[in-house]
Amino acid sequence: MGIQTKGDRQKFSRLRQSLVRLAGEVGELIESFLSHQPVVKGSVYELKRKCGKPGCKCAQGELHARMVVSASEKGRTILQVIPHGFLVEVERKVRRYQELRRARAKLVEIHRQMLRVMDEMEGMRREDLSGKGKRRSGGHEAGWSL
Ligand SMILES: [Zn+2]
Repeated sequence: MGIQTKGDRQKFSRLRQSLVRLAGEVGELIESFLSHQPVVKGSVYELKRKCGKPGCKCAQGELHARMVVSASEKGRTILQVIPHGFLVEVERKVRRYQELRRARAKLVEIHRQMLRVMDEMEGMRREDLSGKGKRRSGGHEAGWSL
């Protein structure tokens, strides 16, 4: 095969641009992994509940609301009340974790694309050995079409 026609060269050029672009995206995506900032694998939401004390306002339907962060660990759901004043910080850590997961999923997809492009480029460049000529005859007789 090899890259011979003008069309081949244009196609190869497009593939090369794709590969460089994808590699650039990889460079951007790993940035979130370079940080040492803490992350929390969980989700933040408002939990409303009754405390159970008779005569409390919650008995009349005015439930107690607390912000909590929940996480699934070893199949169990862990619920932790977020102390007042810590909501923003916890949400930030949760967002960082989600960002890592998003970046990771995107990296998997980009690597798939890169492999497709690289395989295609390799295929275009590959010159198969000709079946002509004697086999195992020392190489220089093996039918180069130069
Ligand atoms: Zn109550």
